[in-house]
Amino acid sequence: MRTRKQTAAVAASGTWKDPDGIRLPAGEVHAWTSGTNQTLCGLPLSRARLLRFPHVAWPDILPESGGSADQVQRVCPRCAAALGHRRDDRPWTRTNPRP
Ligand SMILES: [Zn+2]
Repeated sequence: MRTRKQTAAVAASGTWKDPDGIRLPAGEVHAWTSGTNQTLCGLPLSRARLLRFPHVAWPDILPESGGSADQVQRVCPRCAAALGHRRDDRPWTRTNPRP
């Protein structure tokens, strides 16, 4: 089932638990979509020893969002570029047919 916008989860080199006991990413963070075995920038999750965080959405780990970014030290620029910021670069949108 396709969702409205790009959804990516998070894979990271480390983990910690917040006060609620929720596992959150730490260290270097990549984007990962569930159902695949590699990050968006092409790293194999197992070989790169990245942990998966299917419950953490990509925007939550961006430092500017703050949500789950407390222990994030580095956001992979290639994954960030792959996901983009929705404000530019022609996302996949359907344009209304012209009359
Ligand atoms: Zn990456």
